[in-house]
Amino acid sequence: MANASLVKCACDRCSCEVSLEEAIKKDGKYYCCEACANGHVNDQSCKMSGCNCS
Ligand SMILES: [Zn+2]
Ligand SMILES: [Zn+2]
Repeated sequence: MANASLVKCACDRCSCEVSLEEAIKKDGKYYCCEACANGHVNDQSCKMSGCNCS
């Protein structure tokens, strides 16, 4: 059994997975970082390196 539950970031173009403890929960969805949770306003980029979702 995995000891960390990973959820996929709810951002459309994001394929990041984040542990439930670290996920940003917003509107019942889980995101990998604030930038994704906010819909990449102001061109914020994803904090996960290698993710090009913004
Ligand atoms: Zn991302
Ligand atoms: Zn994103």
